[in-house]
Amino acid sequence: MKSALHLGLLAFLLLSAQKPGVWTADIDQIRQTARLIPGRGPLRVNVLKFAESRRAKKFSIKGAPDEPSVQARTAVQIVYTDGYIMLDSGMDQQVHNFFGRGVVEPYDSDAAREVERALVGARSIVVTHEHGDHVAGVIHTPLAKDLAPKTILTRDQVKTLLTNPQMPEIQLTAEMASRYNVIDYEKYLPFGPGIVLIKAPGHTPGSQMVYARLDSGREYLFIGDTAWHMDGVRQVKGKDAPWIQEDEESLKAQLIWLNRLYNTDPNLFIIASHDDEQRRDLVAKGILGGKLER
Ligand SMILES: [Zn+2]
Ligand SMILES: [Zn+2]
Repeated sequence: MKSALHLGLLAFLLLSAQKPGVWTADIDQIRQTARLIPGRGPLRVNVLKFAESRRAKKFSIKGAPDEPSVQARTAVQIVYTDGYIMLDSGMDQQVHNFFGRGVVEPYDSDAAREVERALVGARSIVVTHEHGDHVAGVIHTPLAKDLAPKTILTRDQVKTLLTNPQMPEIQLTAEMASRYNVIDYEKYLPFGPGIVLIKAPGHTPGSQMVYARLDSGREYLFIGDTAWHMDGVRQVKGKDAPWIQEDEESLKAQLIWLNRLYNTDPNLFIIASHDDEQRRDLVAKGILGGKLER
């Protein structure tokens, strides 16, 4: 009787451990994972804005007033002593125009060229997710063949790009997909000294966050489009944008986790890809460099 009870309990524990639950992450485990690959951590992080979308704030944060706001389109460069990683790849003007939906929005061709140059010089390229403004720079470009072998895409990202791309310009064929480095991982992936990829499906099936710890100890967490503006993290409020389809339950769990981190770890900089106010503030404070290095 007693052993049957034990067996029952064991089965219950195993089952509950296997049940796919709501999204969660553990910052201590992420920090540990960041130390798995030996070597000197990155020295600094740069960000460059190459385009803007004008979207009322009410779309970025549910319940926000219907006032104008700027969504920055950005790419990030993580610099080591002997090379750098690009995080997100920018997009050409044609893909940018898709987002304007008939309205012409600012596109900085010089900055876009800087992003392209940085992709060419990068040791590797990682994307936060498979939306056009983050991934088109390694797909919808004459350089795709050269960039693909050093671009790391997750299996979930590739799946969307093959079967359900955000726009036709970024659709991959199986032949094209085979040129990229495709990876898969369960929860955290040590990517390089100080860098961890964190699986975070929600905004898209292939979304991931990227944790970076500099050699100096400063920490960043790039959250891609989990929130379009940091107010979403501060207020734990999702977007209100009918043109995108998100997994709201996962997103909510991610916002709750990020909000807790935001309040408990003020020295960990949580960076939202499109938050133009945050970008300007952190560049002014020297926490992010404002241009890409060659
Ligand atoms: Zn997105
Ligand atoms: Zn985006």
